[in-house]
Amino acid sequence: ASAITVPVPLGDRAYDIHVGRGLLGEAGRRIAALGARAAAIVTDENVGPLYAAALAASLEQNGLRTATIALPPGEATKSYASLERVCDAVLAAKIERGDLVVALGGGVVGDLAGFAAAVVRRGVRFVQIPTTLLSQVDSSVGGKTGINSRHGKNLVGAFHQPSLVLADTGLLDSLPLREMRAGYAEVVKYGLIDDPAFFDWCEKNWRGVFAGGPERDEAVAQSCRSKAAVVVRDEREDGDRALLNLGHTFGHALERITRYDSARLVHGEGVAIGLAQAFRFSAALGLCDEADARRVEAHLAAVGLPTRLSQVPGGYGTVDDILEAMAQDKKVKGGALTFILVRGIGQSFIARDVPVDRVRAFLQDEI
Ligand code: NAD
Ligand code: ZN
Repeated sequence: ASAITVPVPLGDRAYDIHVGRGLLGEAGRRIAALGARAAAIVTDENVGPLYAAALAASLEQNGLRTATIALPPGEATKSYASLERVCDAVLAAKIERGDLVVALGGGVVGDLAGFAAAVVRRGVRFVQIPTTLLSQVDSSVGGKTGINSRHGKNLVGAFHQPSLVLADTGLLDSLPLREMRAGYAEVVKYGLIDDPAFFDWCEKNWRGVFAGGPERDEAVAQSCRSKAAVVVRDEREDGDRALLNLGHTFGHALERITRYDSARLVHGEGVAIGLAQAFRFSAALGLCDEADARRVEAHLAAVGLPTRLSQVPGGYGTVDDILEAMAQDKKVKGGALTFILVRGIGQSFIARDVPVDRVRAFLQDEI
């Protein structure tokens, strides 16, 4: 299989992302090149039965010893209890400092396995084989790993860059359409942040992305390039990396209001509504053309993503409920919010002092 290579030039932790259909069959060869003797494969109970045996066989053919641990699917797996299970499985598999943890799954598996790799034996190398569109374009790139705590999502974790990312776009053929759409919201986000030509491309080529043509590989690779560029500029999110939160201030609030119940809203659906709202809010503030806001909304709606509060299943409460959910976000300080706003498609910027009153007025219009 041919692959597009996206380099992530992070000095002594530089690594490559390989994107292409059919890469799982070559995973052994590509991973063996890292020079490990053993690999602990971490996966979940949806993905494992589909792909773990093929991965293990490919690794073993290339001389690596393997062990596999499969955890229940879902966000609840990003827990202390799962971390303990994964660390113990990695130690039982006699993974040493030169060996590897291989995450085979979506963002849940990647975040958990990456964090286990960061802490077990004070750090072993890890490889990401992301199997959802969201994890291929977002969570597998950038080195943020972690689990959830009773105090909130992703509050316990570490920065730990992978040694290699293999994004086999063929694995997305088995992904439920709803998860595919949710990941696509993050793809569109990269165009909206700073790449208007990519947004144009998405409008013309999204059908190919969903159908699994060469457009899918191109969309994943371009998204990885965008995210890698931001991460290289600002690995630890002191500045520019915050632009990746476009659509997420509103999106996270909606996830909180729907209690992270994936039956109601998955992350990417919250982001889709949040992106449309970030544009409508920017237009309401006179920063951006109404036409741009309408165009963004039309594209998200065309692929089947929600763009309006009224599309949140089970309701979204009152304006105050949304404001309160936003206030729990780390981006709120005093009476002002930090927002990612836009001057147009591909022209996002960090607005640090957005008065809560302006947000309230906007939300009142949205309802
Ligand atoms: P997920 O890992 O829960 O996967 C979604 C569902 O799809 C699961 O049920 C899974 O079993 C199933 N699945 C995965 N691959 C499949 C395949 N190829 N075929 C069939 N089914 C498949 O969800 P996600 O959206 O990939 O990741 C969400 C997580 O990512 C969240 O915990 C979020 O916090 C995290 N995240 C992390 C970062 C980061 O920078 N580290 C960025 C964004 C999101
Ligand atoms: Zn996101």
